[in-house]
Amino acid sequence: MRTKLYINGEWVDGIGTIAVHDPSDGSIIAEVALAGDAECEAAVAAADAAAVSWAKTAPRFRSEILRKAFEIMTAENEAIATLISRENGKAMPDARGEAAYAAEFFRWFAEETVRTPGDFRKSPSGDKRILVTHQPIGLSILITPWNFPAGMATRKIGPAVAAGCTMILKPATETPLTAMYIVDVMERAGLPKGVLNLILPEKSGPAISKMLHDDRVMNLSFTGSTEVGRIILKEAADKVIRCSMELGGNAQVIVHDDADLAITIPQLLLAKMRNGGAACTAANRIFVQRPIADKFIAELTKSMSAFVVGRGTDAGITLGASVSLKERNKIAEIVDESVAAGGKVQVGGVKPEGEGAFYPATVLTVDKDNPILNHEIFGPVAPVVIFDTDEEGIAWANDTDFGLISYVFSGNLTRALRTAEAMESGMVAINKGVISDPAAPFGGVKQSGLGREGGFDGIHEFLQTKYIALEI
Ligand code: NAD
Repeated sequence: MRTKLYINGEWVDGIGTIAVHDPSDGSIIAEVALAGDAECEAAVAAADAAAVSWAKTAPRFRSEILRKAFEIMTAENEAIATLISRENGKAMPDARGEAAYAAEFFRWFAEETVRTPGDFRKSPSGDKRILVTHQPIGLSILITPWNFPAGMATRKIGPAVAAGCTMILKPATETPLTAMYIVDVMERAGLPKGVLNLILPEKSGPAISKMLHDDRVMNLSFTGSTEVGRIILKEAADKVIRCSMELGGNAQVIVHDDADLAITIPQLLLAKMRNGGAACTAANRIFVQRPIADKFIAELTKSMSAFVVGRGTDAGITLGASVSLKERNKIAEIVDESVAAGGKVQVGGVKPEGEGAFYPATVLTVDKDNPILNHEIFGPVAPVVIFDTDEEGIAWANDTDFGLISYVFSGNLTRALRTAEAMESGMVAINKGVISDPAAPFGGVKQSGLGREGGFDGIHEFLQTKYIALEI
């Protein structure tokens, strides 16, 4: 297990350590190194020194490093999944899925590295030729959250390597071990020194602020809450640092009265319960049309009752712990507030006694003004609201500041498409519970973020467009 900072190709100590806890029982898994000012400066200097030569490397060279990293991660899926589960708390099926998903970003961007398009045209007036090319934007800061410690790191490292940018990765303090493992994979895959550096600052705010005011830093790729994203955007504004922001969600689900519940319930369970509900894509506000509401609520409640709660690495567990007691208690408070405001518990809803950051799978029926609909729950809690007309369902669903993803269930494709087009979100899933795919553009509108990760767009978050005019 790697527990140190990674700067200029060396694993180094910092100014002290911080404990990483197993959220299932609060025990300490490891002490990891913390970066002070000197380590942060060394990381910037290393990434800056490597930037010019790295940008000039052949795309095929970078592509093969990513391909090798994909192969290592695939071969080591179980070890990576176990580490994710231990420091994050999620159940092994979720952790295995994340480790595989994370590796896929390296495969996808290995393929994208050698296919970056350019353009060569005659200008409309005929006075010149227009050449459009893309160049690596340069030193990039990558900041990741705790909920997908592997997937969110590779979704940034993959395109940064593909584009030819050097990087400083700052993982979440709760889950640095998985990030350290991935950096180790990149080292084994042959990434030159200085290209990727990992820091864990003692105080993230001031350390990242200092970097965003450093002339050597060109780009920021952040995944985390909207609250923190807003602070960082303001910091980045002073030097007009380019920003890609993958922020919070409050995903809406519309279940039309012609939805096939045999498809809807299992898919909705994926949308709600993947990662124990700690996903930016988690189904958070479920709107079901009145004619099928009773049957839907009964079937959802029955399925949610079947989750087996416990330590993520134990056999048979389908719902692990939240990342910390603090996060678990936030979930419990949101449910208690909802119940006090009239929400009716169908199953779950009670914070367990004893150690471990556990919370049971919970279904609540609420009215459309219940406060739970204004929270990104980030836990295994499904609030259900009944609506009547399609127009009402769509209006209620869009009544949020967030716009990452929506889910639509209907047996009628035209109706589903009409609703999908009306959803104010960057992504819409029709009759499907999980749509994240390295080959598709992931990202939100409204306060869910700026930019896209994955797909053909992902590499462009690390490239800048250059137009060259040619007299001819
Ligand atoms: P968070 O915003 O608290 O932290 C995210 C990262 O920012 C962590 O590494 C944290 O240490 C760091 N950070 C915190 N304060 C900072 C500061 N002032 N300056 C610089 N860095 C700072 O988020 P979290 O609790 O780790 O993750 C959950 C959130 O992430 C949820 O809101 C979720 O929706 C969001 N998320 C979004 C996506 C997406 O793709 N849109 C994916 C996963 C998670």
